[in-house]
Amino acid sequence: MKRTTLGFIGGVALTAGAFALSPKAQFLAGGAMANAAYRMQDHLHDYDLEHKDATPEQVWTEFKSQNEMAAKVREAFPRTAYHPVVAMLVCMDARIDTNELVGDTRRNYYVVRTAGSAMSTKEEEMLELAVNNGVKLIVLTRHSDCAAEKAAKNPEARAKYPALVAAVDEREQKFAEFLARPAIAERIASGKLIVKQLDIDTSNEHLAEHSNTPAPEHAAAPSEEHGH
Ligand SMILES: [Zn+2]
Repeated sequence: MKRTTLGFIGGVALTAGAFALSPKAQFLAGGAMANAAYRMQDHLHDYDLEHKDATPEQVWTEFKSQNEMAAKVREAFPRTAYHPVVAMLVCMDARIDTNELVGDTRRNYYVVRTAGSAMSTKEEEMLELAVNNGVKLIVLTRHSDCAAEKAAKNPEARAKYPALVAAVDEREQKFAEFLARPAIAERIASGKLIVKQLDIDTSNEHLAEHSNTPAPEHAAAPSEEHGH
């Protein structure tokens, strides 16, 4: 109890101290504190949703109760709404946290998450709508160790998930189709929009520009990795 109070006072003092810093120092300190919060929660297995013996009903109850706790905090400390100028297309892989990609916790981005970063016409339209709402940079990503890409290379998975692998197979074609949409092509040509294709390193979320020439391992025979 006493330790909790001391911790709380310490937290308040730290937060108050942080506001005396320059904007850059506050941005960095905010990122450091968000990381401290991730570390604080990371090992709390009592709150895991992945206990092997948990029933779906127990998982749902825990999910709901965690949302209620989080929503109460948000009600007490509302956050500023921003008008994003960046839109990101990212795979649904849980290891990728889009806040961490840029170290910014402020929900400053439109985020489209799909299996394997595959786009269909509706995602193209959604991104075009975001551009019409002021987006100046679109980031189309792929990531290492992608389960959807592995499925597309595995004959058994290809038979089992035909729509998923078809979407992954035509990903490049859909990216090209998006770039050729008149509203997008016109904005790129007039310097009002940049579209970048980036590779995410899933282990540390580092971004690198995607090269369209296949990597050496892709040129070799596909390995027989089985996804789970
Ligand atoms: Zn993926």
